[in-house]
Amino acid sequence: MSEHPTAAVTSVAQVAVDTRHFIGGERVASAETFTDVSPIDGRPLGEIARGTATEAAAAVAAATSAFPIWAATPPAERARLLGAVADGVEKRLEELAAVETRDNGALLRSHRRGVMPRVAHNFRFFADRLLKLAHEDFETRGHSQHVSWDPAGPCVLITPWNAPLLLATWKAAPALAAGNTVILKPSEWSPLTASLLADIATAAGLPPGVLNVVQGYGPEVGEALVAHPDVRRVSFTGSVPTARRIATAAAAHLTPLSLELGGKSPLLVFADADLDQAVDLAVEQYDNAGQICLAATRLLVEESVAEEFTRRFTERAARLRQGDPRDEATDIGPLIHPRQLEKVDGFVRRALAAGARVVLGGHRSEGPGDRWQDGLYYAPTLLTDVAQDSEIVQEEVFGPVLTLQTFTTEDEAVRLADDTRFGLAATVATGDQERARRVTARLVAGTVWVNCFYVRDLRAPFGGSRLSGVGREGGDWSFDFYCDLKTTVTAPNGWTDGRIMGENGRADHG
Ligand code: NAD
Repeated sequence: MSEHPTAAVTSVAQVAVDTRHFIGGERVASAETFTDVSPIDGRPLGEIARGTATEAAAAVAAATSAFPIWAATPPAERARLLGAVADGVEKRLEELAAVETRDNGALLRSHRRGVMPRVAHNFRFFADRLLKLAHEDFETRGHSQHVSWDPAGPCVLITPWNAPLLLATWKAAPALAAGNTVILKPSEWSPLTASLLADIATAAGLPPGVLNVVQGYGPEVGEALVAHPDVRRVSFTGSVPTARRIATAAAAHLTPLSLELGGKSPLLVFADADLDQAVDLAVEQYDNAGQICLAATRLLVEESVAEEFTRRFTERAARLRQGDPRDEATDIGPLIHPRQLEKVDGFVRRALAAGARVVLGGHRSEGPGDRWQDGLYYAPTLLTDVAQDSEIVQEEVFGPVLTLQTFTTEDEAVRLADDTRFGLAATVATGDQERARRVTARLVAGTVWVNCFYVRDLRAPFGGSRLSGVGREGGDWSFDFYCDLKTTVTAPNGWTDGRIMGENGRADHG
């Protein structure tokens, strides 16, 4: 089947994808569309519905009217339905992986083996976790106090393009499990798998209006969703400037927000580390062409091993194969969009103008053969001679660009590591467990890895400090966000006994 855009349904990697919104269980078109383009070869993948405030209002109305029934559905039944969604994801895993790769250019092999299995796991994990939530009971002088996790209402979930379905389901699964209804707004640069998720949810038996998908540009439809008075939660993953706009829009109704934002995370390599493993960790930061929020893009290396580290790093990085993300042999695919390529290249040009020195890369990738001629490839880059207060050290690039700085003491390493406005993650490579304990205790970051990277249990909290985010999701922290916690206090024998009144005439707080 050929890949060609049509108004309502397009075929991508031989998978039929509906390009309209999904509202109240129905496919809904918009007056206008925008073209979704593959970063692999620049080919159009489909004409996607371009939502406006009208579709935003329709989606919130659908989510609002579906809410009471879904919220009242027994948790075990909600869990069963989410398990059926996970089954559907697993059944269509190959299709989801192929479409996602075509849409955002990330490696097919990681979509197949890592990302999509995790998408299914998101649903299974949160369905199971819901059933294990602790509903605490206390007693104060005969008064029983029961804490319940009540669903909050319609939730707006806004996601970026670098890990579209992974991030969408990391939010949608706990939100739905908790009994909320959802309006998902995927990135306009990777809108396709959200639409497939709507198909999967329908096939699994999720009632109409429980999961809605609205397509379009952030300022046109995303902001209208966030500002809607009936929305009770907004969970956003994306950039800091967008987060500021979203926080401003949410302020109108004081809608609670969870913000998972960018980073400029450090990798601290101490001289006592296994240098080859440290080099592997550093090279891993080029995964997904550096378009990973958690990427440790600042290499901080103890001076005594910096030369040897750099030698082994460049040797190892030179073996990375750039190319079509559908090839098993490819390590680094294209960037998502010409604007992203321009942005990445701009950072590098300005860094060079400010005195940085190129150790590796530093330019667009020409690549061998015609296949890459129109591609969006950027060479894995390492820059050194960079000042701590320079733009390249302080700002998120979101491409395959690392910087290398050296330090001589542990104090200096921690000072450099913590000296940005971000606090998403940090990685420490050391052979000394005592040092690991000291250093990790001082680092400001939502996640710190010691001699490893990217491993994350869904039971653990996830989020960023400082500009990297507000709040934590994951495990019970997700339910904390997506629920309105309620304490119900019941008097003994059905009525308050005068003996337990406080001096001011009210029952005390216990
Ligand atoms: P972005 O902020 O440009 O867009 C993210 C989403 O917000 C998109 O769906 C977009 O349409 C929408 N949006 C844009 N303007 C909006 C507005 N005014 N109102 C409502 N919605 C709006 O981010 P991006 O370029 O898609 O993603 C890259 C960023 O995401 C990087 O900064 C990266 O670090 C971050 N990120 C963070 C995490 C994390 O978990 N902390 C994970 C992945 C990506």
